[in-house]
Amino acid sequence: MLKGTAASDGIGIGRILLLEETTLEYTPHAVDDPNAEVERFRRAIDQLVADTVRDAAALRETAGEKEALIMEGHISLINDPALKGETENLILGGQCAEAAYETMCDMFIGIFSSMEDEMMRQRAADVRDIKAGLLRILLGVKEVKVSDAPKGTVLLTKELTPSVTAGIKKGNIVGIITETGGKTSHSAILARALEIPAVLSVANATGTLKNGQPVIVDGSAGIVIPEPSFDVLNEYAEKRDKFLREKAELEKFRGMKTKGADGAEYELVCNIGKADDANKVVEFDGEGVGLFRTEFLFMDRSSVPTEEEQFAAYQKAALVLKGKPLIIRTLDIGGDKEIPYMGLEKEENPFMGFRAIRYCLKNRELFRIQLRAILRASAFGDIKIMFPLITCVEELREGKAMVEDIKRELALLGIPFNRNIDVGIMVETAAAAAIADVLAKEAAFFSIGTNDLTGYTMACDRGNGNVAYLYSALQPAVLRMIERTIRCGREAGIPVGMCGEAAANEKLIPLLISFGLTEFSVSAPSVLRVRKCISKWTKAEADRVAAKAMSLSTEAEVASYLATVV
Ligand code: PEP
Ligand code: MG
Repeated sequence: MLKGTAASDGIGIGRILLLEETTLEYTPHAVDDPNAEVERFRRAIDQLVADTVRDAAALRETAGEKEALIMEGHISLINDPALKGETENLILGGQCAEAAYETMCDMFIGIFSSMEDEMMRQRAADVRDIKAGLLRILLGVKEVKVSDAPKGTVLLTKELTPSVTAGIKKGNIVGIITETGGKTSHSAILARALEIPAVLSVANATGTLKNGQPVIVDGSAGIVIPEPSFDVLNEYAEKRDKFLREKAELEKFRGMKTKGADGAEYELVCNIGKADDANKVVEFDGEGVGLFRTEFLFMDRSSVPTEEEQFAAYQKAALVLKGKPLIIRTLDIGGDKEIPYMGLEKEENPFMGFRAIRYCLKNRELFRIQLRAILRASAFGDIKIMFPLITCVEELREGKAMVEDIKRELALLGIPFNRNIDVGIMVETAAAAAIADVLAKEAAFFSIGTNDLTGYTMACDRGNGNVAYLYSALQPAVLRMIERTIRCGREAGIPVGMCGEAAANEKLIPLLISFGLTEFSVSAPSVLRVRKCISKWTKAEADRVAAKAMSLSTEAEVASYLATVV
């Protein structure tokens, strides 16, 4: 068995087709007529653009618009004036087109590969792809055609390039194995768009596996099993059929409202970390965003994002969501979320220390810039503001007062924003749950953060293996915190959502329905599954289950009882 990165869900069973890299060898030589060589280079570029346009059209058919855009991104790279212009300069200096282009591409590959940003590193793979494409044309080498692969083929290649992917016929290719590429690489994106199980970054796969060999690709677990025994084959065939059945079943929930079995409606929204993730929300049929973790905008860089950068990100998410709700949580740093350049002091107890709203209220300029960016973006969608880690009402009041100040300032400057913007809070500390009745009078909404609420209620750090057994949202203590928060919100007439992981926990869903939760915020790929789970419950049935679960004394009892009802 070989291990790799689980990059596209599902199980593929078939025979390996090894896509060997065609050797694109040539002898660099000086040219006698540089002008004619430049002409040869330009003709090859025109040919490559035409081939890429054709491949993009093929991808649009098989994979979709977004994937075709990846391919079309190649066209602008091919036409990049610096890459083309500098290559021509080298040719005019006497080099052959092959050597000149390779030199320039390798330079770009080197630059992109050394960048920190994953997206930019991805550009290196794109340049490698176009370099191979152009050399192939110049050298007259025919490309291996994946489109001719028979049914039941598992593609094995060092790197899955978009141009190879363009040739994939969905019915024929049942699995993909590569030696490179992570979860966010183009290979992974394309495999997911084509719904083909894929395991990437399998070390030395092209050396270990053989052409024509029978193989199982488990794209959910990230494993590859060559030469499976009869029993293993049967086991995986069953797994594959179950996966496909469940997938087809879930698809029935696409485009539907989120409703209980009694017709009661709920909001089913998503958690995101970047503006771009708003596209995933749309793709996975989420009804908006219940948590935008803005700290990710501050990570992987060396300085605080400016107001303009933040505004652009919030505005982008709002525009993609086209009027669907977008809850933006203000900066939640500290604890396990470190941002080195912000110079947070090392603390004995970082989870209980100077973090999140506490840090923002003491670093007012930083907070002001973020609130201004959010308020300005509120002119472009249904944006709400949410404060993290609230423990007492003063924090909410202080934060709201700052929002009011900035509103006045923007109004004076004539900058548009939503004057009635809602300001709500995360209920993720035991303190906030305990005074939920008080907070509900001044917050426009609650969103329960069970990831932290579980830790703070159980006084346990989930990263600490010795106490991890206490870390469960099904602990009677945590359930009481959740029930109380929702009840207090309901009594005050404000909506209560949940954006912690527990919102997608099938066992907990009947309890949340019974308590009166109105909004579930989950990861985008969980949307259809959660919509299906919710659809099974009437309020009356959920009440019966909740009454029983809340009468039990231990987490184990609650968990095993709920396992019998879902
Ligand atoms: C939570 O604590 O449940 C939550 C959603 O916030 P985060 O996971 O970002 O701490
Ligand atoms: Mg939290």
